[in-house]
Amino acid sequence: MSGHKWWHNQSLRTTIGVAEGWQLFQELYDVTPRDRPLLDGFRRDRLTDSLARAVSTDHFAPLLTGRDLSPDTAETVLGELPVLEKTTLREAPESLRTGLVDEWDELRVRTSGTTGEPVAIAHDASLLAEATASNLRMLSAYGLEPGLRVLRLTADTRHSPTAFETLPHFGAATVLRINVATMGPSDTAFVDRLCADFRPHMVWGQPLEVLLALIRQREGLLHLPTPRMVLTHGDTLDRSTREAISAGFDCPHRDVYGLQEFGRVAWECPEQPGTYHFDEERVDIGTDEHSQLLISSLVNRAMSLLRYRPGDCGEVLRDGCPCGRAHARITGLEGRQRGLVVDAGGALVGVKPLRLVLERQPLDRWQVRQEEPGRLEALIAPRDPRQAADLEERLVKELSAAMHRCDVRVRAVALEELATRTGKAPHFQLLATQQAIGRHAVGETVAW
Ligand SMILES: [Zn+2]
Repeated sequence: MSGHKWWHNQSLRTTIGVAEGWQLFQELYDVTPRDRPLLDGFRRDRLTDSLARAVSTDHFAPLLTGRDLSPDTAETVLGELPVLEKTTLREAPESLRTGLVDEWDELRVRTSGTTGEPVAIAHDASLLAEATASNLRMLSAYGLEPGLRVLRLTADTRHSPTAFETLPHFGAATVLRINVATMGPSDTAFVDRLCADFRPHMVWGQPLEVLLALIRQREGLLHLPTPRMVLTHGDTLDRSTREAISAGFDCPHRDVYGLQEFGRVAWECPEQPGTYHFDEERVDIGTDEHSQLLISSLVNRAMSLLRYRPGDCGEVLRDGCPCGRAHARITGLEGRQRGLVVDAGGALVGVKPLRLVLERQPLDRWQVRQEEPGRLEALIAPRDPRQAADLEERLVKELSAAMHRCDVRVRAVALEELATRTGKAPHFQLLATQQAIGRHAVGETVAW
């Protein structure tokens, strides 16, 4: 589309997507909640188009060639496709590419899934426009307006103590980001003043990041002004986390569900907590016989993801919602939860720096365990066992640098030691789990 070097500037691409997204919001996303027939018509057309695109992929061609792909049969054809596993995306991503979007025009997102190797997902520019339209609809349902101020929490030790950003596709929001993992007593006055002057409409973070902010408040290290709402994303909320968050903030708390493969796909109904309306304009969601979600993109022109099983469980509610919105909902979400590392000083810090180091290595599998504060053990299953000693030595250095207030040990093990019967051994087995941190945030004594 453009040969200019700025074409891959993220801010510019986002700004360009926003204008299109506003139009999409007005014409579609803002109308469909009250117009089921319009929504159904759109869905059918988009599904038909996405099946037609899938025919040009190596993976789906043998499954779709020769079939009647007209709008009337699209739903049936989709339902008969075999499940698309993560392993296909991980091991043969090229087989899912349509070839319809010039590589130069692709938007690439890398996942760092809770299990398995990172994967690169190719999207086309519609990702931004659709996200913009969907965000405007969600913010409007939550009583917020474009130009909102968002206080974004982070627990990533690599992030600076504070930073400003803008999110054009998220209601043209201004964002003040604060690091709740690394802050200490000497930061309190400065961060408190910034937050007070910023007057956030929304506090936003992963459940753990929000819990960590509550713990900082209990410790007297942070004094957040009351926002209009708290938004969480990323990990599945358990009951104690929900309770801790609503006890800690005097405002509504809403959660969203998304994944890098599709972007955010569902947002919690403001009137029916625990149920999430999904954007039927851009995804189809069903379940398999084990209640695992099967998600299909109706909009991605670069890569065909149809009946993709991300590993999260849930139930789809297709009957109307008491709130009056036409969109189907998912409920009973179960999937991801993570924990934090407790360092030698007792501080809770995010695991991402460890994950980034380990994901780069030639390993079949790895797991980080913490059984006492300030100590970590990384178990690694090297792809080539002859490299075990070298990897152990190198990883002790790299992991210690990533988590400098922890004593890190690294031990090479056989792959069987890291595999479970379900094949889903978690990458982290930690003391400070989301539930434990939730109990800590409301003042209960915990094990560290
Ligand atoms: Zn609803």
